[in-house]
Amino acid sequence: MAQTILVTGGAGYIGSHVCKALAKAGFRPVAYDNLIQGHRWAVRWGPLELGELSDGDRLDAVIAAHRPAAVMHFAAHIAAGESVDDPGKYYDNNVSGLLSLLAAMRRGGVDRLVFSSTAAVYGTPRYAPIDEGHPQEPINPYGASKMMAERVLADFAHAHGIRTAALRYFNAAGADPDGEIGEAHDPETHLIPIVLETAAGLRPEVVVFGDRYATADGTCVRDYVHVADLADAHVRALRWLADRTGAHAFNLGNGEGFSVRQVIEAARRVTSRPIRARVEAAREGDPATLVADASHARAVLGWRPRYHSLDTQLSHAWRWLASRHALNGAGTTLANRRSSTERAPADALGLTS
Ligand code: UDP
Repeated sequence: MAQTILVTGGAGYIGSHVCKALAKAGFRPVAYDNLIQGHRWAVRWGPLELGELSDGDRLDAVIAAHRPAAVMHFAAHIAAGESVDDPGKYYDNNVSGLLSLLAAMRRGGVDRLVFSSTAAVYGTPRYAPIDEGHPQEPINPYGASKMMAERVLADFAHAHGIRTAALRYFNAAGADPDGEIGEAHDPETHLIPIVLETAAGLRPEVVVFGDRYATADGTCVRDYVHVADLADAHVRALRWLADRTGAHAFNLGNGEGFSVRQVIEAARRVTSRPIRARVEAAREGDPATLVADASHARAVLGWRPRYHSLDTQLSHAWRWLASRHALNGAGTTLANRRSSTERAPADALGLTS
């Protein structure tokens, strides 16, 4: 019988792609989500259990009903900029939420956890590319909340034998290569969807947060990693943890940085559409450059990212955006356009098409 994996945040962007990858690999994903950020339409590869992370009774009931072999934990707040203005929200959900989940795992006898972490734990890089041994000096509450969560995992591994792998993503990008699911945050704060929404005419312009950073063109440099490659790394980490103990961490990125200007330029190329951009003040809490050394994940997990090209990431995200908003002609410049029967229904998104 297929092993069940409980996926908190399984209706969200990365969580839903991981559910698809789990199902493909022969597991049975059960999504646990409160649907505040997540979407019912994104849960397609197993059941959806509605619930809050803070609700221990509900977690106990779901664990008792499904007997998961392991948990993958994605349910968290993720916007670095917002975390500077509302730190309590981040510590509450990202740290207290994890404590609640771990307590339920212990009550239910589940001892394996793959944890969604971030490059934001490192703060301003002292060297590049960044490996897992780089000092952790987060410069925003989001990164600090994830660093604390990782510390909690290490202490629970030591005290209670919980086995964990924290996967530190650099910048998640792209959408399901089959076009079935993709990114849909509300409000959207991430660069790539904002750039593509501007290309689609859904926004008037992209606001570039600062052009005086110590980078080649003055705008921030990030390492974009395809969400399907992230999903693959999670399945690998889950299997790898099966006969391991302790708390482990892996960077996930491609080792190549692109500036905000380069992303906008690439999106003009991929979409063949004009994209207006205007520079404003830098956003608080943004390091100038974040580029991964992911050789640990490559060596230990055998991870080989398939979609490392920025253009491929953008074209998958563009195709997803086009199908989601049913944009006239927006997808026609894209290769491998899938049939409209695979679209997430626009009305389920509350969007006008
Ligand atoms: N960014 C920007 N304009 C936007 C959104 C983001 O210039 O409307 C920049 C942001 O300052 C950062 C990069 O794009 O340098 C990636 O930001 P995003 O929010 O996508 O991810 P983060 O790096 O914060 O996880």
